[in-house]
Amino acid sequence: MYELIRDNVQRVLAIIENLRPGEGVKLMAVTKTRTRREAEIAIEAGVNLVGENKVQEAMAKYRDKLAVPLHMIGHLQTNKVKYAIDLFDGIDSIDSERVAEALNRRLNRTMPVMLEVNAGREETKTGLMFEHVRPFLAKAEQWHNLLFVGMMALFPASADKDIEENKKNRDLMKETGELWRMSQKEGFPWAPLNELSMGMSEDFEWALEAGSTMIRLGTALFGARPKTGVL
Ligand SMILES: *Cc1c(COP(=O)(O)O)cnc(C)c1O
Repeated sequence: MYELIRDNVQRVLAIIENLRPGEGVKLMAVTKTRTRREAEIAIEAGVNLVGENKVQEAMAKYRDKLAVPLHMIGHLQTNKVKYAIDLFDGIDSIDSERVAEALNRRLNRTMPVMLEVNAGREETKTGLMFEHVRPFLAKAEQWHNLLFVGMMALFPASADKDIEENKKNRDLMKETGELWRMSQKEGFPWAPLNELSMGMSEDFEWALEAGSTMIRLGTALFGARPKTGVL
C-alpha cells in the first residue's frame, strides 16, 4: 500500500511539473472511503492538501489535524455548518446563497472558500450555472466572513463516454478557464479567485492544459473506491 500510493503521487507530481513547470499547481488527495493512514502516506509523498466530501467522515478521521490543509469539497448541509467550521481549513463547495449565508452567519473569523460551478449543467450535481456566477460574486460582498479565494468546477464523468463527448468535456474545461479569468478581472476585493480547482483522476491532464491551479485526485492515487452505493 505504502509504495503504491507513493509511486502514484510521484507520477502525478511529475505530470504536473511536465505540463505546467514551476507554476505551483497544487495536488489535492481526495480521501473519501480511505483511511487516515492512507492520507498520511500521500502527504509524506508530497500532496499539498486533502479533500473530503462529507463532514461526518472527515470528523471521524481528521479531528486531529493533518500536516496539510483539509478542505471540504462536497455539498455542505446547513445543519453540519458548525462542525465544518471547526474541522476544515477551507470550504471549496459553496454551491448556493443558502450555504454561503449559513456559513457566514456562524463564522467569527474570515474563512477562505470557493464558489462551486456546475460546468456540465447536470441535474444530479450541485453548483452554480455559468450565468449565475457573476451575480453571485457581486452579491458575495454581504458575506463579510467569506473570502472567495477560488472557483471549483465539476464536469460530467468521462470514463464511459465516446471520443466526441469527451471532446465536449475538454472544450468545457477551456470555457471554465475563461470564465474563471473573467471573474478574476471583476476585481472584487472579497473574491480574488486565485485558484481554479478543476480536474479529477480521469481528466486531470486536460484540466492542467486548460489552466487549472489545483487538481483533486482520489482513484489515481489510491486505486478504485469500493462500490458501496452511497457515494
Ligand atoms: C470524489 C471526488 C473527487 C475525486 O474523484 P476521482 O475520480 O476518484 O479522482 C474529486 N472531486 C470531488 C468533488 C469528489 O467528490
